[in-house]
Amino acid sequence: MEKSTLIGPFKQIITMTGIPIKGAVKDSELHIVSDGGIIITGSTITKIGDFELLKESDKIAETITLKGNHVCVPGFIDAHTHICFGGSRTKDYAMRNAGKSYLEIAHAGGGIWDTVTQTRKATQEELTKSTIKLANRHLKNGTTTIEVKSGYGLSIDEELKMLRAIKEANITAMPDLIPTCLAAHMLPKDFQGTETAYLSEIAERLFPILKSEKLANRIDAFIEESAFSAEDIKDYFNTARAMQFDITVHADQFTPAGSKVAVNYKAISADHLEASTDNEIAILANSNTIAVALPGASIGLGCDFTPARKLLDAGAALAIASDHNPGSAPMGDLLTQASILGTFQKLTNAEVLSGITFRAAAALKLQDRGKLEEGLLADFAVFHSDNYQDILYNQGNLKPCMVWKDGNLVYDKHN
Ligand SMILES: [Zn+2]
Repeated sequence: MEKSTLIGPFKQIITMTGIPIKGAVKDSELHIVSDGGIIITGSTITKIGDFELLKESDKIAETITLKGNHVCVPGFIDAHTHICFGGSRTKDYAMRNAGKSYLEIAHAGGGIWDTVTQTRKATQEELTKSTIKLANRHLKNGTTTIEVKSGYGLSIDEELKMLRAIKEANITAMPDLIPTCLAAHMLPKDFQGTETAYLSEIAERLFPILKSEKLANRIDAFIEESAFSAEDIKDYFNTARAMQFDITVHADQFTPAGSKVAVNYKAISADHLEASTDNEIAILANSNTIAVALPGASIGLGCDFTPARKLLDAGAALAIASDHNPGSAPMGDLLTQASILGTFQKLTNAEVLSGITFRAAAALKLQDRGKLEEGLLADFAVFHSDNYQDILYNQGNLKPCMVWKDGNLVYDKHN
Protein backbone atom coordinates (compact mmCIF):
# COMPACT_ATOMS: atom_id res chain seq x y z
CA MET A 1 0.00 0.00 0.00
CA GLU A 2 1.07 3.49 -0.80
CA LYS A 3 2.26 5.44 2.22
CA SER A 4 0.09 8.17 3.67
CA THR A 5 1.08 11.54 5.03
CA LEU A 6 -0.85 13.50 7.65
CA ILE A 7 -0.59 17.30 7.60
CA GLY A 8 -1.82 19.59 10.33
CA PRO A 9 -3.05 20.82 12.64
CA PHE A 10 -4.84 23.57 10.74
CA LYS A 11 -6.77 26.05 12.84
CA GLN A 12 -9.37 25.94 10.04
CA ILE A 13 -9.82 23.81 6.93
CA ILE A 14 -12.31 25.43 4.55
CA THR A 15 -13.51 22.43 2.55
CA MET A 16 -16.10 24.17 0.28
CA THR A 17 -18.20 21.03 0.71
CA GLY A 18 -22.00 21.21 0.50
CA ILE A 19 -22.31 24.57 -1.27
CA PRO A 20 -24.52 24.51 -4.40
CA ILE A 21 -22.98 25.29 -7.76
CA LYS A 22 -25.42 28.17 -8.39
CA GLY A 23 -26.62 31.21 -6.53
CA ALA A 24 -25.81 33.37 -3.49
CA VAL A 25 -23.93 31.87 -0.52
CA LYS A 26 -23.70 33.05 3.09
CA ASP A 27 -20.46 32.67 5.05
CA SER A 28 -22.40 30.58 7.58
CA GLU A 29 -22.80 27.94 4.84
CA LEU A 30 -19.06 27.28 4.76
CA HIS A 31 -18.04 23.90 6.12
CA ILE A 32 -15.10 24.52 8.47
CA VAL A 33 -13.04 21.78 10.11
CA SER A 34 -11.43 23.23 13.25
CA ASP A 35 -8.02 21.96 14.43
CA GLY A 36 -8.12 19.67 11.44
CA GLY A 37 -5.73 17.46 9.56
CA ILE A 38 -5.53 16.18 6.01
CA ILE A 39 -4.28 12.72 5.07
CA ILE A 40 -2.75 12.47 1.61
CA THR A 41 -2.10 9.21 -0.23
CA GLY A 42 -0.29 9.66 -3.52
CA SER A 43 -1.88 12.62 -5.27
CA THR A 44 -5.25 12.50 -3.51
CA ILE A 45 -6.88 13.35 -0.21
CA THR A 46 -7.84 10.20 1.68
CA LYS A 47 -9.17 11.73 4.88
CA ILE A 48 -10.00 15.06 6.50
CA GLY A 49 -10.91 15.38 10.15
CA ASP A 50 -9.77 16.20 13.67
CA PHE A 51 -5.96 16.24 13.65
CA GLU A 52 -5.51 14.47 17.01
CA LEU A 53 -7.92 11.71 16.01
CA LEU A 54 -6.32 11.25 12.59
CA LYS A 55 -2.90 10.91 14.27
CA GLU A 56 -4.05 7.66 15.86
CA SER A 57 -4.68 6.05 12.46
CA ASP A 58 -2.16 3.24 11.84
CA LYS A 59 -1.94 3.86 8.10
CA ILE A 60 0.11 7.05 8.47
CA ALA A 61 3.76 6.71 7.55
CA GLU A 62 4.66 10.35 8.12
CA THR A 63 3.19 13.34 9.98
CA ILE A 64 3.99 16.91 9.03
CA THR A 65 3.24 18.99 12.11
CA LEU A 66 2.64 22.70 11.57
CA LYS A 67 3.54 25.23 14.26
CA GLY A 68 1.42 28.34 14.77
CA ASN A 69 -1.93 29.15 13.20
CA HIS A 70 -2.72 28.00 9.69
CA VAL A 71 -5.81 28.10 7.49
CA CYS A 72 -6.15 25.68 4.58
CA VAL A 73 -8.27 26.28 1.46
CA PRO A 74 -8.55 24.41 -1.87
CA GLY A 75 -5.90 25.42 -4.42
CA PHE A 76 -7.28 28.29 -6.49
CA ILE A 77 -8.42 27.67 -10.04
CA ASP A 78 -7.94 30.43 -12.60
CA ALA A 79 -10.43 29.55 -15.34
CA HIS A 80 -9.50 32.26 -17.88
CA THR A 81 -6.01 33.47 -18.80
CA HIS A 82 -3.91 34.40 -21.81
CA ILE A 83 -0.47 33.82 -20.21
CA CYS A 84 1.12 32.42 -23.39
CA PHE A 85 2.25 35.48 -25.36
CA GLY A 86 5.24 37.37 -26.74
CA GLY A 87 6.25 40.98 -26.06
CA SER A 88 4.71 43.50 -23.69
CA ARG A 89 2.01 46.15 -23.91
CA THR A 90 3.49 48.59 -21.39
CA LYS A 91 3.17 51.45 -23.90
CA ASP A 92 -0.55 50.74 -24.50
CA TYR A 93 -1.23 50.94 -20.80
CA ALA A 94 0.51 54.30 -20.48
CA MET A 95 -1.23 55.67 -23.58
CA ARG A 96 -4.66 54.49 -22.42
CA ASN A 97 -4.17 56.10 -19.02
CA ALA A 98 -3.03 59.28 -20.77
CA GLY A 99 -6.45 59.41 -22.41
CA LYS A 100 -5.66 57.94 -25.85
CA SER A 101 -8.46 56.06 -27.59
CA TYR A 102 -8.47 52.43 -28.68
CA LEU A 103 -7.98 53.60 -32.30
CA GLU A 104 -5.13 55.98 -31.45
CA ILE A 105 -3.37 53.12 -29.63
CA ALA A 106 -3.92 50.79 -32.60
CA HIS A 107 -2.55 53.43 -35.01
CA ALA A 108 0.55 53.76 -32.82
CA GLY A 109 1.17 50.03 -33.32
CA GLY A 110 -0.50 48.83 -30.11
CA GLY A 111 -3.53 46.67 -29.35
CA ILE A 112 -4.04 42.92 -29.71
CA TRP A 113 -2.36 42.94 -33.12
CA ASP A 114 0.90 44.03 -31.47
CA THR A 115 0.78 40.95 -29.23
CA VAL A 116 -0.01 38.79 -32.30
CA THR A 117 3.07 40.19 -34.06
CA GLN A 118 5.30 39.64 -31.00
CA THR A 119 3.90 36.15 -30.38
CA ARG A 120 4.48 35.16 -34.01
CA LYS A 121 8.10 36.37 -33.67
CA ALA A 122 8.69 34.20 -30.59
CA THR A 123 9.79 30.58 -30.97
CA GLN A 124 7.74 27.74 -29.49
CA GLU A 125 10.50 27.20 -26.90
CA GLU A 126 10.43 30.86 -25.87
CA LEU A 127 6.64 30.72 -25.42
CA THR A 128 6.94 27.50 -23.40
CA LYS A 129 9.51 29.12 -21.12
CA SER A 130 7.57 32.33 -20.51
CA THR A 131 4.33 30.40 -19.90
CA ILE A 132 6.02 28.19 -17.29
CA LYS A 133 7.44 31.29 -15.60
CA LEU A 134 4.05 33.00 -15.30
CA ALA A 135 2.27 29.79 -14.26
CA ASN A 136 4.78 29.19 -11.47
CA ARG A 137 4.37 32.78 -10.31
CA HIS A 138 0.62 32.14 -10.01
CA LEU A 139 1.31 28.96 -8.06
CA LYS A 140 3.10 30.93 -5.33
CA ASN A 141 -0.15 32.90 -4.93
CA GLY A 142 -2.08 29.70 -4.36
CA THR A 143 -3.30 28.92 -7.89
CA THR A 144 -2.89 25.23 -8.71
CA THR A 145 -4.86 25.03 -11.98
CA ILE A 146 -4.71 27.59 -14.80
CA GLU A 147 -6.62 27.72 -18.06
CA VAL A 148 -4.42 29.08 -20.88
CA LYS A 149 -5.75 30.29 -24.23
CA SER A 150 -4.14 30.54 -27.63
CA GLY A 151 -5.44 33.38 -29.80
CA TYR A 152 -2.30 35.42 -30.50
CA GLY A 153 -1.29 33.24 -33.44
CA LEU A 154 -4.38 33.65 -35.64
CA SER A 155 -3.24 31.31 -38.41
CA ILE A 156 -3.19 27.52 -38.51
CA ASP A 157 0.58 27.26 -37.95
CA GLU A 158 0.83 30.02 -35.37
CA GLU A 159 -2.13 28.77 -33.32
CA LEU A 160 -0.52 25.31 -33.41
CA LYS A 161 2.77 26.80 -32.20
CA MET A 162 1.01 28.40 -29.23
CA LEU A 163 -0.98 25.29 -28.30
CA ARG A 164 2.10 23.07 -28.61
CA ALA A 165 3.98 25.53 -26.38
CA ILE A 166 1.18 25.34 -23.78
CA LYS A 167 1.17 21.52 -23.94
CA GLU A 168 4.94 21.50 -23.45
CA ALA A 169 4.71 24.03 -20.60
CA ASN A 170 2.19 21.83 -18.82
CA ILE A 171 4.85 19.12 -18.40
CA THR A 172 7.14 21.36 -16.35
CA ALA A 173 4.88 24.06 -14.87
CA MET A 174 3.84 23.35 -11.28
CA PRO A 175 0.13 24.15 -11.76
CA ASP A 176 -1.98 22.10 -14.18
CA LEU A 177 -2.50 24.01 -17.42
CA ILE A 178 -5.83 23.57 -19.24
CA PRO A 179 -5.49 24.64 -22.90
CA THR A 180 -8.19 26.42 -24.92
CA CYS A 181 -8.14 27.25 -28.63
CA LEU A 182 -9.02 30.93 -29.13
CA ALA A 183 -8.26 31.15 -32.86
CA ALA A 184 -11.53 33.14 -33.00
CA HIS A 185 -10.01 36.05 -31.03
CA MET A 186 -10.23 38.53 -33.93
CA LEU A 187 -10.10 38.47 -37.73
CA PRO A 188 -6.35 38.54 -38.46
CA LYS A 189 -5.30 41.68 -40.35
CA ASP A 190 -3.39 39.63 -42.89
CA PHE A 191 -6.27 37.26 -43.75
CA GLN A 192 -7.66 37.88 -47.23
CA GLY A 193 -11.35 37.21 -46.74
CA THR A 194 -14.38 37.51 -44.52
CA GLU A 195 -14.90 36.54 -40.89
CA THR A 196 -16.78 33.39 -41.89
CA ALA A 197 -14.12 32.40 -44.43
CA TYR A 198 -11.46 32.67 -41.71
CA LEU A 199 -13.52 30.70 -39.21
CA SER A 200 -14.33 27.91 -41.66
CA GLU A 201 -10.65 27.55 -42.54
CA ILE A 202 -9.81 27.21 -38.83
CA ALA A 203 -12.60 24.71 -38.23
CA GLU A 204 -11.69 22.61 -41.27
CA ARG A 205 -7.94 22.58 -40.92
CA LEU A 206 -7.11 23.29 -37.27
CA PHE A 207 -9.87 21.45 -35.34
CA PRO A 208 -8.81 17.95 -36.56
CA ILE A 209 -5.19 18.58 -35.50
CA LEU A 210 -6.33 19.75 -32.05
CA LYS A 211 -7.94 16.32 -31.69
CA SER A 212 -5.14 14.22 -33.19
CA GLU A 213 -2.36 15.95 -31.21
CA LYS A 214 -4.56 16.34 -28.10
CA LEU A 215 -3.77 20.06 -28.00
CA ALA A 216 -7.09 21.38 -26.70
CA ASN A 217 -10.58 20.18 -25.95
CA ARG A 218 -12.04 23.64 -25.59
CA ILE A 219 -13.03 26.14 -28.29
CA ASP A 220 -13.42 29.82 -27.37
CA ALA A 221 -14.63 32.78 -29.44
CA PHE A 222 -14.73 36.53 -28.87
CA ILE A 223 -18.30 37.64 -29.61
CA GLU A 224 -18.14 41.41 -29.93
CA GLU A 225 -18.73 44.18 -32.47
CA SER A 226 -14.95 44.42 -32.97
CA ALA A 227 -14.52 40.64 -33.33
CA PHE A 228 -17.17 38.07 -34.36
CA SER A 229 -20.96 38.32 -34.44
CA ALA A 230 -23.52 35.73 -33.37
CA GLU A 231 -24.15 35.13 -37.08
CA ASP A 232 -20.43 34.74 -37.94
CA ILE A 233 -19.91 32.09 -35.29
CA LYS A 234 -22.84 29.75 -36.12
CA ASP A 235 -21.10 27.18 -38.32
CA TYR A 236 -17.90 27.40 -36.26
CA PHE A 237 -19.66 26.46 -33.03
CA ASN A 238 -21.84 23.86 -34.75
CA THR A 239 -18.71 22.16 -36.10
CA ALA A 240 -17.04 22.40 -32.69
CA ARG A 241 -20.06 20.80 -31.02
CA ALA A 242 -20.29 18.06 -33.64
CA MET A 243 -16.63 17.27 -32.95
CA GLN A 244 -17.34 17.14 -29.21
CA PHE A 245 -15.29 20.16 -28.22
CA ASP A 246 -16.39 22.08 -25.15
CA ILE A 247 -17.43 25.63 -25.96
CA THR A 248 -16.63 28.77 -24.01
CA VAL A 249 -17.29 32.39 -25.00
CA HIS A 250 -15.81 35.86 -24.44
CA ALA A 251 -19.22 37.44 -23.90
CA ASP A 252 -20.76 40.87 -23.21
CA GLN A 253 -17.43 42.64 -22.57
CA PHE A 254 -18.39 45.92 -24.26
CA THR A 255 -21.81 45.15 -25.77
CA PRO A 256 -24.37 42.53 -24.71
CA ALA A 257 -24.59 39.71 -27.26
CA GLY A 258 -22.23 36.91 -26.37
CA SER A 259 -23.95 35.39 -23.34
CA LYS A 260 -27.04 34.58 -25.40
CA VAL A 261 -24.79 32.83 -27.95
CA ALA A 262 -23.03 30.99 -25.11
CA VAL A 263 -26.28 29.64 -23.67
CA ASN A 264 -27.63 28.74 -27.14
CA TYR A 265 -24.59 26.57 -27.83
CA LYS A 266 -24.59 25.12 -24.30
CA ALA A 267 -21.22 26.69 -23.56
CA ILE A 268 -19.48 25.56 -20.37
CA SER A 269 -18.85 29.20 -19.52
CA ALA A 270 -19.56 32.77 -20.60
CA ASP A 271 -16.72 35.04 -19.56
CA HIS A 272 -16.43 38.85 -19.02
CA LEU A 273 -20.11 40.01 -18.81
CA GLU A 274 -19.22 43.59 -17.83
CA ALA A 275 -21.94 44.85 -20.22
CA SER A 276 -24.58 42.24 -19.31
CA THR A 277 -28.02 43.72 -18.63
CA ASP A 278 -30.86 42.19 -16.61
CA ASN A 279 -31.87 40.31 -19.75
CA GLU A 280 -28.50 38.54 -20.15
CA ILE A 281 -28.33 37.96 -16.38
CA ALA A 282 -31.68 36.14 -16.52
CA ILE A 283 -30.59 34.06 -19.52
CA LEU A 284 -27.40 32.98 -17.74
CA ALA A 285 -29.17 32.31 -14.44
CA ASN A 286 -31.61 29.99 -16.20
CA SER A 287 -28.83 27.99 -17.84
CA ASN A 288 -26.03 25.63 -16.82
CA THR A 289 -23.43 27.96 -18.31
CA ILE A 290 -21.01 29.26 -15.67
CA ALA A 291 -20.73 33.07 -15.57
CA VAL A 292 -17.07 34.08 -15.23
CA ALA A 293 -16.21 37.55 -13.92
CA LEU A 294 -12.81 38.95 -14.90
CA PRO A 295 -12.08 41.81 -12.48
CA GLY A 296 -8.48 42.03 -13.74
CA ALA A 297 -9.80 43.36 -17.06
CA SER A 298 -11.99 45.94 -15.31
CA ILE A 299 -9.01 47.08 -13.23
CA GLY A 300 -6.70 47.07 -16.26
CA LEU A 301 -9.06 49.07 -18.47
CA GLY A 302 -10.71 51.19 -15.79
CA CYS A 303 -14.15 49.81 -16.72
CA ASP A 304 -17.18 48.69 -14.74
CA PHE A 305 -17.06 45.35 -12.95
CA THR A 306 -19.17 42.38 -13.98
CA PRO A 307 -22.54 42.58 -12.15
CA ALA A 308 -21.55 39.67 -9.93
CA ARG A 309 -24.03 40.47 -7.15
CA LYS A 310 -26.96 40.55 -9.57
CA LEU A 311 -25.82 37.33 -11.26
CA LEU A 312 -25.64 35.49 -7.93
CA ASP A 313 -28.96 36.87 -6.70
CA ALA A 314 -30.58 35.81 -9.98
CA GLY A 315 -29.26 32.31 -9.33
CA ALA A 316 -26.30 32.10 -11.74
CA ALA A 317 -23.11 30.14 -11.05
CA LEU A 318 -20.31 32.69 -10.69
CA ALA A 319 -16.62 31.94 -11.14
CA ILE A 320 -13.90 34.61 -10.91
CA ALA A 321 -10.77 34.50 -13.07
CA SER A 322 -7.79 36.78 -13.70
CA ASP A 323 -7.92 37.13 -17.52
CA HIS A 324 -4.14 37.61 -17.14
CA ASN A 325 -2.99 38.99 -20.51
CA PRO A 326 -0.45 41.59 -21.65
CA GLY A 327 -3.06 44.12 -22.84
CA SER A 328 -6.15 44.60 -20.72
CA ALA A 329 -5.26 42.62 -17.58
CA PRO A 330 -1.52 42.86 -16.96
CA MET A 331 -1.60 42.42 -13.15
CA GLY A 332 -2.25 38.70 -13.03
CA ASP A 333 -3.13 38.33 -9.36
CA LEU A 334 -6.32 36.34 -8.93
CA LEU A 335 -6.64 36.70 -5.16
CA THR A 336 -6.16 40.49 -5.21
CA GLN A 337 -8.67 40.90 -8.05
CA ALA A 338 -11.26 38.56 -6.53
CA SER A 339 -10.99 40.46 -3.22
CA ILE A 340 -11.50 43.80 -4.96
CA LEU A 341 -14.48 42.46 -6.93
CA GLY A 342 -15.87 41.39 -3.55
CA THR A 343 -15.70 44.93 -2.15
CA PHE A 344 -17.22 46.61 -5.22
CA GLN A 345 -19.94 44.00 -5.79
CA LYS A 346 -20.63 43.18 -2.12
CA LEU A 347 -19.83 39.49 -2.30
CA THR A 348 -19.49 37.31 0.78
CA ASN A 349 -16.26 35.49 1.56
CA ALA A 350 -18.06 32.27 0.67
CA GLU A 351 -19.08 33.61 -2.76
CA VAL A 352 -15.59 34.83 -3.63
CA LEU A 353 -13.95 31.62 -2.43
CA SER A 354 -16.52 29.53 -4.33
CA GLY A 355 -15.74 31.58 -7.43
CA ILE A 356 -12.04 30.75 -7.38
CA THR A 357 -12.39 27.10 -6.30
CA PHE A 358 -15.16 24.64 -7.15
CA ARG A 359 -17.25 26.97 -9.30
CA ALA A 360 -14.10 27.75 -11.31
CA ALA A 361 -13.47 23.99 -11.59
CA ALA A 362 -16.96 23.65 -13.07
CA ALA A 363 -16.12 26.37 -15.62
CA LEU A 364 -13.37 23.99 -16.79
CA LYS A 365 -15.50 20.85 -16.38
CA LEU A 366 -13.06 19.49 -13.79
CA GLN A 367 -14.65 17.27 -11.16
CA ASP A 368 -11.49 16.15 -9.36
CA ARG A 369 -10.64 19.47 -7.66
CA GLY A 370 -11.98 22.72 -6.22
CA LYS A 371 -13.02 21.25 -2.86
CA LEU A 372 -11.17 19.49 -0.06
CA GLU A 373 -12.83 16.08 0.07
CA GLU A 374 -11.82 12.47 0.17
CA GLY A 375 -10.93 11.22 -3.29
CA LEU A 376 -10.19 14.64 -4.77
CA LEU A 377 -6.74 15.92 -5.72
CA ALA A 378 -4.60 17.08 -2.81
CA ASP A 379 -4.31 20.64 -4.17
CA PHE A 380 -4.40 23.25 -1.44
CA ALA A 381 -3.06 26.59 -0.25
CA VAL A 382 -2.13 27.31 3.36
CA PHE A 383 -2.15 30.77 4.96
CA HIS A 384 -0.67 32.00 8.25
CA SER A 385 -3.85 32.94 10.11
CA ASP A 386 -6.40 31.69 12.60
CA ASN A 387 -9.39 33.02 10.60
CA TYR A 388 -10.07 32.31 6.90
CA GLN A 389 -11.64 35.78 6.56
CA ASP A 390 -8.09 37.20 6.78
CA ILE A 391 -7.42 35.90 3.26
CA LEU A 392 -9.79 38.27 1.46
CA TYR A 393 -9.50 40.98 4.15
CA ASN A 394 -5.84 41.39 3.16
CA GLN A 395 -6.91 41.85 -0.48
CA GLY A 396 -4.26 39.60 -1.88
CA ASN A 397 -1.43 40.89 0.27
CA LEU A 398 -1.55 37.85 2.55
CA LYS A 399 0.22 35.23 0.44
CA PRO A 400 0.16 31.48 1.04
CA CYS A 401 2.98 30.13 3.19
CA MET A 402 2.61 26.70 1.60
CA VAL A 403 1.08 25.32 -1.58
CA TRP A 404 0.42 21.64 -2.21
CA LYS A 405 -0.20 20.24 -5.70
CA ASP A 406 -1.08 16.59 -6.41
CA GLY A 407 -0.07 15.70 -2.86
CA ASN A 408 3.36 17.33 -3.11
CA LEU A 409 4.57 20.37 -1.19
CA VAL A 410 5.57 22.49 -4.20
CA TYR A 411 5.98 25.85 -2.46
CA ASP A 412 7.09 26.43 1.11
CA LYS A 413 7.79 29.93 2.37
CA HIS A 414 9.06 28.48 5.68
CA ASN A 415 12.20 27.22 3.93
ZN1 LIG B 1 -9.87 36.76 -22.25
